[in-house]
Amino acid sequence: MDYNASNAIQDLHNFGEFGGVNPSISDSSTYTFLSAKTMFDTFEGNTEGCYLYSRHSSPSNLYLGEALAALEGTETANVTASGMGAITAVILQLCSSGDHIVSSRTIYGGTYAFFKNFLRRFNIAVSFVDITDEQAVADAITKNTRMVYCEAVSNPLLEVADIAALSKICRDADLPLVVDNTFSPLSIAPARLGADIVIHSLTKFINGTSDAVAGAVCGTKEFCLSLKDVNNGAGMLLGSTLDSLRAASILKNMRTLHLRMQKHSENALFLAQKFEADGLRVVYPGLPSHPGHKLMKEQGVPEFGFGGILTLDVQTPEKANALMEIMQARNLGYLAVSLGFYKTLFSAPGSSTSSEIPEDEQGAMGLSSGLIRFSIGLDSDIERTYREMKACMEELQLLPAKKELV
Ligand code: PLP
Repeated sequence: MDYNASNAIQDLHNFGEFGGVNPSISDSSTYTFLSAKTMFDTFEGNTEGCYLYSRHSSPSNLYLGEALAALEGTETANVTASGMGAITAVILQLCSSGDHIVSSRTIYGGTYAFFKNFLRRFNIAVSFVDITDEQAVADAITKNTRMVYCEAVSNPLLEVADIAALSKICRDADLPLVVDNTFSPLSIAPARLGADIVIHSLTKFINGTSDAVAGAVCGTKEFCLSLKDVNNGAGMLLGSTLDSLRAASILKNMRTLHLRMQKHSENALFLAQKFEADGLRVVYPGLPSHPGHKLMKEQGVPEFGFGGILTLDVQTPEKANALMEIMQARNLGYLAVSLGFYKTLFSAPGSSTSSEIPEDEQGAMGLSSGLIRFSIGLDSDIERTYREMKACMEELQLLPAKKELV
């Protein structure tokens, strides 16, 4: 792929108004106009470069949006107060009562709950499909379908979606492909592979310091402006706007995203290989045993690896809880949801981030109650981490017995 996202981010140069190396933070909710006519024109959406009110846009949000558009290679991007703020705005902008969505069945639990429960109130139906089965996706499309929705690498099962193949199905059906790329910033570039709208929870890797909640919608100018429309824009009217102070801090953290993603991926690959060699049930797209490995190699950006998330199935929730507690007690990470922190975070999705998905459906999609999701940190000595994690597993007798040599 010829597009280099980290160069594109690096090449942006925005000075502060006094020559500061970081853009100044816009500390205003409202903006003055020199004439009443310009204010009127701005409300009509006819004055580029004029700011109206910070729920609509602010200089700090625009700077962060520019960096995210560079990251994804889209025309532009809007930033939102959370990943869910981005997802809900996109869905409600594109769908009305009577419409239908085709969605991957393995998606973040909050998105699943929004699709399955909340959209019912608006008479919007969702068909959940196995996103790796392209025929099933095509077959699920009806005359009322308004989009195909998936995660590039799914939470928590790490299924890899074939973005180019899905985008072809969507183009043939004249539908937008909406991809949540929260798990794979830089390592997958969905818009370059044909996705129409790319969503992020910035709360995770992109911010990387677990101190902020934010989201983004990357897409065409036309779509992103429609979200901000004062009369009909779901972003503007539902109010999921990011605060300028946060936008500024996230932009500063984005400067090191390329280095962090490389390290997260390197450490995750190391642990995944070791755990697999130990006979553990590990899932990681960087392992040749992963069903999406070949696809990830074909559609991914090699220098950023296979991402920082892996899962380990220790078969029962009791064992999973015991392992997470002992690892936390030995300072190998935190028993916490979310991802992309410098420290390893682990949680059992079945009882946390995917608990919105009913148990029988969790079972049908292969989400076991003993599954632990790891967001691997930036540990400088990952071999030491591995040794200490292995010692925890040995203590809990989680490692399969070595076969007797005959
Ligand atoms: N998308 C994915 C893949 C997620 O994992 C999450 C949160 O865990 C979200 C979206 C929602 O993001 P936020 O918590 O920023 O609203």
